[in-house]
Amino acid sequence: MALRLYAATTSAGKLRDFRIAAEKYSVSIDPLPGIETIAEPEEDGDTFLANAASKAVYYSRFAPGELVVADDSGLEVDALGGAPGVRSARFAADSGLVDSPDANDNTDVWNNMVLLQKLAEIPETLRTARYECTLVAARNGEVIQVADGTVEGIILDAPRGNGGFGYDPLFYLPKLGKSMAEVDLETKLSVSHRGRAIAALLRMLSS
Ligand code: IMP
Repeated sequence: MALRLYAATTSAGKLRDFRIAAEKYSVSIDPLPGIETIAEPEEDGDTFLANAASKAVYYSRFAPGELVVADDSGLEVDALGGAPGVRSARFAADSGLVDSPDANDNTDVWNNMVLLQKLAEIPETLRTARYECTLVAARNGEVIQVADGTVEGIILDAPRGNGGFGYDPLFYLPKLGKSMAEVDLETKLSVSHRGRAIAALLRMLSS
């Protein structure tokens, strides 16, 4: 019987990534029924694992007996001691530059500006970084499976490309000679932290 997963996300982009990856496995993935009406839990853990696990455990209680998957992801910059990390979505807000959430939804623009400012004096060789993604599958409030994905890159000194979201225009992939905002969706999924984590999770759950 095909495995069925519910994704604890309201992000159309994340759901699309899950579905493209799931085509290679006998797995069906749908959004958790009613997720838009469920109050969001706090994301205040110190690690991607802590946040993804608490979300998966929380949301799985709304679908008894079902496997529910949640994720957490972000950018780690070596020259910043691993920041913004779990604070990636709130980097500019944490720096006091803007309120969060930004009423005009310019959060990504502000976050990228803060990143460029903080790295202004850092030479290219020291601008190493990675995207990390942790996925957790839970059932009836218990963690069943954990998977991680990583992609290494360099933070550019100016944005490149119009695709993607978040820090993608500043995240350069040396092997492809492009920023993450310059690659097509299929390529992004095959090299990205999220794509790798999804593939690892689906492999483990369907084996
Ligand atoms: P979350 O996993 O949706 O909580 O993502 C946290 C934050 O990390 C996002 O708001 C982005 O700033 C950053 N981030 C995570 N994954 C990506 C990605 O694939 N591209 C660009 N930024 C990302």
